[in-house]
Amino acid sequence: MNCANNVYIVGSGIASLAAAVYLIRYKIVPPGRVTIFESEKDYGGAMGASMVDVPFSPDYPRRPTSAYVLPATRLLEEHYSCALNLFECFPCVSDTSKTIAKDVIDFNTDCPYDDKARILNSAREVVNDPSMGVSVTDRERAIDLLLFEDEASCDGRAIDDPKFGFSDQFFESQFFLSWSTMMGPLRKHSAIEFRRYFERFLHVLPHVDTMANVWRMRLNQDDGVARPILAWLRGKGVDADGNMLAEGVKFRANMVVKAVNFAPDGGGIRAESLTFAAAADSASPDGAERTITLGEKDYVFVTLGSQVANLSVGSMDLPPPTVSEPEKAWALWTQIKEDAARRGRDDFGDPEPFFNPPEFKDDPFLSTWVTFTVTSTKPTFLDRLSGLTGNKPWQQGIVTLADSPWLLSVAPFPKPHFYCQPEDIWAWWGFSLCHDKSQRKLDQPGKYVLKPVTKCSGSEILEETIRQFGFDTDLADILGSSVCIPCLLPHAGSVWLRRWQANRPKVVPDGGRNFAFLGQFCEIPEDTMFTMEYSVRSAQVAIERLFGGPSPPAVYQGQTDPVAIAAAFSRFVLNCPIH
Ligand SMILES: Cc1cc2nc3c(=O)[nH]c(=O)nc-3n(C[C@H](O)[C@H](O)[C@H](O)COP(=O)(O)OP(=O)(O)OC[C@H]3O[C@@H](n4cnc5c(N)ncnc54)[C@H](O)[C@@H]3O)c2cc1C
Repeated sequence: MNCANNVYIVGSGIASLAAAVYLIRYKIVPPGRVTIFESEKDYGGAMGASMVDVPFSPDYPRRPTSAYVLPATRLLEEHYSCALNLFECFPCVSDTSKTIAKDVIDFNTDCPYDDKARILNSAREVVNDPSMGVSVTDRERAIDLLLFEDEASCDGRAIDDPKFGFSDQFFESQFFLSWSTMMGPLRKHSAIEFRRYFERFLHVLPHVDTMANVWRMRLNQDDGVARPILAWLRGKGVDADGNMLAEGVKFRANMVVKAVNFAPDGGGIRAESLTFAAAADSASPDGAERTITLGEKDYVFVTLGSQVANLSVGSMDLPPPTVSEPEKAWALWTQIKEDAARRGRDDFGDPEPFFNPPEFKDDPFLSTWVTFTVTSTKPTFLDRLSGLTGNKPWQQGIVTLADSPWLLSVAPFPKPHFYCQPEDIWAWWGFSLCHDKSQRKLDQPGKYVLKPVTKCSGSEILEETIRQFGFDTDLADILGSSVCIPCLLPHAGSVWLRRWQANRPKVVPDGGRNFAFLGQFCEIPEDTMFTMEYSVRSAQVAIERLFGGPSPPAVYQGQTDPVAIAAAFSRFVLNCPIH
């Protein structure tokens, strides 16, 4: 394998952490010669989680004194081959005798999802239609999309483009609601990606109502994944073989990379410098920019864009503020694209469709998610939920209230889901895609709290949720023993926005000598974004292309899997629910 003198990595999300791990494990570069720049004060990107202190209130003496903040949580499945490969490198936090990967497999073997109540209607009855509400014509349209279209013919089109012929009823069906609240698409989102999801997750499709074949993790991914990797990279933790690094990677928090400049190199192109400065909101924003000139064997890995760009956190009393400052991740990609264009390259992608598409004029919430984490000293809400859905807590996946104006969904966490979570503390999670089920009404007032979810405090979101579920008799008890922390993620769904094939650059653009793009917005054929798998795969592809590292495993494609095809046929052609 080729070696490097120095590697500079922009971003500290799972893509960057994976890149650093593989660079060190394959001995491409010594750890002390890897530098990770992160514009935020904390590391981990979208994987990040935190805790906030809750001031004591004599009105609510039973509330917890601190509350969890989890902007995002993650599902996975058995074909997350790249992520599982990374997870094999580290011991599991809650049981160091096995790896993170083994723990994920054991947990999902022992406690598989078997959801009996994925979607509830306005009467809180389970929506359970053998056809999942998809007409014969719409099923034919879906098969046409899969078999007779390709990415070129889907280019720049939305899922509801007349070319594909889906009816309005399709977008309100049990199937689409289950799919969109698990995978993220709305009707105005990318047809290219929607089609990719069908192929990549064909084995999940027939089980979308029970969530069988979907996996989760025992611990949240900040505690369970990011922290063990960060500790090892800092030279403080151990890998799966018990080895500690002798020296750590250099971490530079609160440092914004402002520019990466390129120069022609023979018939190719190389990154020649990287410019960074302290973040404006950091403790020492002196404004001074520093530039590193890259030597012959110096490399740069850049995470393009971020689903947690401009993330903000509210409180029990305040909604999350709207962050209007221009986002650093998109700004860097724009600079890179413009600099490459000056070198005659037009294949470095285009961030505009992902963070500022024309559709925002009509629907500024097309990529917005509001998520919320509830920490409670009593299990009342979770007990009521189990009573309503008939699920044991470990069977229960996501529960979506189809007729809620916020299209509210909630999901219980396995317990404990946070490192050192006390026995007498319960936690669960919820989210809104900021559209109703027709997806024509956006940012609607709630049914009981007459405000859009984006403008609600934690207590307002919690009240609307409790009442939407009909747990009114326990309203005071749940509100009095719980703290709900909302997060506003204006770009969570950016990966799903309508795009053209040319909008995402290759991980290593043709002729790229010493740089790679990581994360959700580079192009990896066949794989689907909105997954940590995609980010880890981007790191593996980068190392293969630049240093001759091992090839990543092939991307699972359901259309070549006879078991998945048979299950999909049985479910969608013969209408046989699978239990
Ligand atoms: C609500 C939500 C739900 C999700 N659900 C799932 C799921 O169920 N299953 C699943 O597999 N995945 C899920 N994901 C996706 C997954 O979490 C992300 O795809 C993945 O964590 C992204 O990792 P990344 O390293 O590519 O990017 P990020 O984690 O976004 O990291 C990028 C980092 O780069 C930093 N950065 C950007 N620009 C600069 C700059 N100029 N200078 C310095 N630093 C910079 C950012 O601050 C950020 O920390 C979900 C994501 C969200 C938001």
